[in-house]
Amino acid sequence: MKLALIGVGQAGGKVVEALCEYEAKAGVDFVVDAMAVNTARADLAGLDRIPESRRVLIGQARVKGHGVGADNELGAEVAAEDADEVLSVVDQFRTHEVDAFLVVAGLGGGTGSGGAPVLARELRRLYTEPVYGLGILPGQDEGGIYTLNAARSFKTFVDEVDNLLVFDNDAWRQSGESVSGGFDRTNEELARRLGVLFSAGETNARGAVAESVVDASEIINTLAGGGVSTIGFASTAVNRPKRGLLSRLSKTADDETRDDGEAANRVSSLVRRATLGRLTLPCEVAGSERALLVLAGPPAEISRRGMERSRRWLEAETGSMEVRGGDYPMKSGHVAAVVLLAGVTDVPRVKELQRVAIEAQRDMHEKSATSSAKLQELLRSGSAEQDALE
Ligand code: GDP
Repeated sequence: MKLALIGVGQAGGKVVEALCEYEAKAGVDFVVDAMAVNTARADLAGLDRIPESRRVLIGQARVKGHGVGADNELGAEVAAEDADEVLSVVDQFRTHEVDAFLVVAGLGGGTGSGGAPVLARELRRLYTEPVYGLGILPGQDEGGIYTLNAARSFKTFVDEVDNLLVFDNDAWRQSGESVSGGFDRTNEELARRLGVLFSAGETNARGAVAESVVDASEIINTLAGGGVSTIGFASTAVNRPKRGLLSRLSKTADDETRDDGEAANRVSSLVRRATLGRLTLPCEVAGSERALLVLAGPPAEISRRGMERSRRWLEAETGSMEVRGGDYPMKSGHVAAVVLLAGVTDVPRVKELQRVAIEAQRDMHEKSATSSAKLQELLRSGSAEQDALE
C-alpha cells in the first residue's frame, strides 16, 4: 500500500522521518512522498530525511517561526489560514500512485494537536483516497495542558479522518526512562509496525514472490468504517539448520509434516503474542470491529495451517467475523506477525484521558475565575488614592 505522509508538529515530523528510515533500511517501498509541517522553524531545521522542498513553515505572520507553544487552538487557526501552502506541496506528490494519506501528529502539543485535524479535513475535501491519522498520546506525567490538548484533539481528529491509528507514549515508556529520552526507540518500534503493515503487498527489493499478498484494498477495508485502531507486533528468529542437497532429497513426507507442524505452531504463538502483548494503544481486544493479520518472513515459515488457525483464533478473540489475513514473503532470518485491530472501543487510556481532561478544564475555569476576582481585589485596594492612566 502506497502512502503519502504528512507529519504535523515536532512528533509528526520525527515519526514521518522514522517511517522513511524504516523504508530505506528494510529495502521496501511504501512511501510515495513525505512532508513536514510546523510553526517552529527550529523543529523543521532539525529534520534530516525530509528535503527542504517538503518542509512547510506555517503561521509565520502570527508566530514568526517560533512555534505556538502548547496552544492547540492557535495551532488549528494557523493551519486553517495556511492550509493552501501545505496543499500546494501535496499537489507536487505523485498523487496518482497514492493509495492513502497518513497525517501524523503528537496530540498533546500545539501545532500537531491543533493542525493535524484541520489538514486531514482539507485533504479529505480534495482527494478521494482515504485519509488516515496517526495520533500520539502524551505521557501521563507531561502535565494537565498536554492531557487536555490530547483529549480535545483526539475527539476532533477521529471525526476528520477515515481511521485514527493511535500510539500511546505512556504504554511504551520503559521504567526509569523519561518520555523524551525514549522517543528515538519508540519511533523506531512504531515505524517497524507500520512499515511491515503498509509495505506488505508492495514489491520489495529483497525478492521473494508473494503467494497471498495483502493488497491495499484489504488494509483499506479493515480500516473502513472509521473509529480508532491499534497495532500489535511480535517476531521471532528462525535459525533453521541449513540442509545440504542430499538431506533435502532424502527428506521424507514425515519430515515435511513435522516441519510444517513446527511452523504452524510458531505462527500460532506469534499471533497470540502480537495480539495479547503490548499494542500501540492498549485496549480490550474483544469487541474490535475488524482485524487484519499480516505474516511476514521466509515463505517456508509462513504456514498456511498456522495462518488459518490464527485467523479463527482472532475471530474468537475479537468476536468479529471480519478478520482478514495475508502473507508478506521476504528473505529474512525472522518471521513476524502484525495484527491490526480496527474499530476498538474499550480503551482505558482514552477514558482516563477524557476524565483527567474534564478535571483539568474545570480546574482551569475555577482558577481563572478566582484569579480574576483576586486581581480585581488587588486593584481595588489602592483605587481610592490612585487614578488609572487614561
Ligand atoms: P507540537 O510540535 O506543538 O505539535 O508538539 P510536539 O510534537 O513537540 O509534542 C506533542 C506531543 O508529542 C507531546 O505530548 C510529546 O510527548 C509527543 N512527542 C514529541 N516528540 C515525539 C517523538 O519523537 N515521538 C513520540 N512518540 N512522541 C513525541
